[in-house]
Amino acid sequence: MSPYEDLIIDHWRNPRNKGTLPDPDADVTEANVPCGDVVRLQLKVRDGVVEDVRFDGRGCAISMASASLLTEMIKGRGLEELESMKPEEVVEALGGVIKPRLNCALLPYRALRKALDALRGEGSGANPPRRS
Ligand code: ZN
Repeated sequence: MSPYEDLIIDHWRNPRNKGTLPDPDADVTEANVPCGDVVRLQLKVRDGVVEDVRFDGRGCAISMASASLLTEMIKGRGLEELESMKPEEVVEALGGVIKPRLNCALLPYRALRKALDALRGEGSGANPPRRS
């Protein structure tokens, strides 16, 4: 077993930032139908920075580990920075993912894109922060 697989198992067994936020600025849900994975991602944004993040959901080990890892990757980062974040970064952080599982691994990333869209006022599920 490689250290990367250990990482996935660790995040799957001990998910980081799992739960819900009381007053999120973005609250989105994405599903990966073929595998039955569902990820809900909530962001709390302050001054253009992800102040807090939670995920919830159910699914296979890869999707849940990826969601947990993603929350650690995005917490404290600026929204503009996250806009330019590539899916490859998530795959790389997971230590590489075999192709048939890519949809599982990138489900949380897709949820993040949806949340960013919502925060820009596009799509649904957000109370976009007003900038003066
Ligand atoms: Zn899956």
